[in-house]
Amino acid sequence: MRRRLLLAACLAAIGSCAEYPALRPEDPPPEAELDAPPVWGRAERVLIVSIDGLRPDAIEAANAATLKGLIARGAYCATAQTIRPSVTLPSHTSMLTGLDAPRHEVYWNSYHRGYLPHPTVFSVVAQCGRKSAMLFAKDKFHFLANPKCVDYVVGPPAPDRAPPPEDYRDPAQQEDLIRRQREAALHPDERHTTAGDLAHAFSAAWPRNAFALTFLHFREPDEIGHRRGWMSPEYLEAVAAVDRALGLVTATVEQNGGFEKTALIVTSDHGGSGRDHYWFLQPMQTEHLTIPWICVGPGIRPGLRIERALRIYDTAPTALALIGLGVPAGIEGAVVEEVLR
Ligand SMILES: [Zn+2]
Repeated sequence: MRRRLLLAACLAAIGSCAEYPALRPEDPPPEAELDAPPVWGRAERVLIVSIDGLRPDAIEAANAATLKGLIARGAYCATAQTIRPSVTLPSHTSMLTGLDAPRHEVYWNSYHRGYLPHPTVFSVVAQCGRKSAMLFAKDKFHFLANPKCVDYVVGPPAPDRAPPPEDYRDPAQQEDLIRRQREAALHPDERHTTAGDLAHAFSAAWPRNAFALTFLHFREPDEIGHRRGWMSPEYLEAVAAVDRALGLVTATVEQNGGFEKTALIVTSDHGGSGRDHYWFLQPMQTEHLTIPWICVGPGIRPGLRIERALRIYDTAPTALALIGLGVPAGIEGAVVEEVLR
């Protein structure tokens, strides 16, 4: 099974897309002007784990033991906020660039060819001569997995054809986009990218490779949320299943130097309510926009609670700071200083 997981860096699509300006594989990766490296850098390695569609209140409701254990041993913000549009690819682009949506302009949520033309945590790590890895469960993430920046990529293969263009800002498209998303949730890509598969792939590769930064994405809570409803028993079971996979990830860290050497951020791309997470359907529904943000690592005080509203794009600069790398100048995201004091 594990061997059949796709090492997909070489499978990423070739060519650019007329609708969206994107880097072609032959283009050089964007170089960031880095603010001076912070003095912190207590961790040798950092992991960013994104659990797609995880609501903060689902952690307790699902009795998610791994997540609850991490919250107890590190910093936790239950009031972090994602961006608008609160959809997967735009939100993850913010998480991994430190940019708000108007700056990165990723307003679509499907696979498309080429690569993001902005610095990411991966490009900064590469620029600093270190290595990184991405393990993800949805093919659209290839857009963030520029093989010139990311050394190890596991995910579903890039599709042969890009779907029609999407723009979540366009009210005329929104009904159709919702319909497409609901259909996609009924027919998930199950080619070896369950949380368990990805956690096993991580555990096989991570100890043997000196990845300074690793990103892991688990998809199940979002998928089941669309199918059965957020906070439904089935959704909570999906959260519990991802929590077990996360347990394998944290056990691998423990067996390889533990959280004295590695820092971990666990967060999400959006919440959800009913069967959706679209802010434009219910603009006042805070459950769409509120996400958990957990950080464990060397020097981070157990039980630290952050009451303010962290932004999803604070994740990128904080991850870089945790391993002592500079942060791209001029981004919207700011280092979460509470965890570094
Ligand atoms: Zn999502």
